[in-house]
Amino acid sequence: MIVLILMFQLTLCILKPDIVRSPHLFNVREIIALILKRQFIFIKSKRLQLSRERAGEFYREHQEKFFYSRLVHYMSCGPISCHILGRENAIKEWRSMLGPTKVYKTIFEAENTIRGQHGVTDTRNCGHGSDSIETAQREMNFFFPEFDIQSISKYENILTK
Ligand code: ADP
Ligand code: MG
Repeated sequence: MIVLILMFQLTLCILKPDIVRSPHLFNVREIIALILKRQFIFIKSKRLQLSRERAGEFYREHQEKFFYSRLVHYMSCGPISCHILGRENAIKEWRSMLGPTKVYKTIFEAENTIRGQHGVTDTRNCGHGSDSIETAQREMNFFFPEFDIQSISKYENILTK
């Protein structure tokens, strides 16, 4: 019981523009069903479109990389679907459901992941997951500044009842 409380985590999940675009909307429903099946709780959700400036800010750690401008362009080209997900080990579990960053790797080792199923290129890899507790806090605050992360204790109580 105590272990479950300690390991309960939140993470930021983004379904990127080409997965949210209308011809593929059924993919969003399919992915949400998969997430629920893996026992995540959807704590907050929002659909929005980033400006180039906001997309650049979100990915600022990559600003020296060769793919940065491509990434910023892609992430601001249409609506995205953002979610705060909760469960034990949420950060690791959501990234493992997503699969490797580089879509070509999914062919060999992770075909059965979300990026393996829906990713198109290394940039258009269809989903985002925070990679550490610190990053998750910054990223949740970026998209949900109105959400009081500390209020999560009430969800912990629900989970451990
Ligand atoms: P992740 O999203 O798995 O945490 P990174 O933080 O390294 O991966 O990169 C952020 C995003 O930048 C990736 O999800 C992908 O969209 C894009 N990206 C990463 N590496 C490459 C690359 N080598 N070529 C093109 N795009 C990339
Ligand atoms: Mg990353």
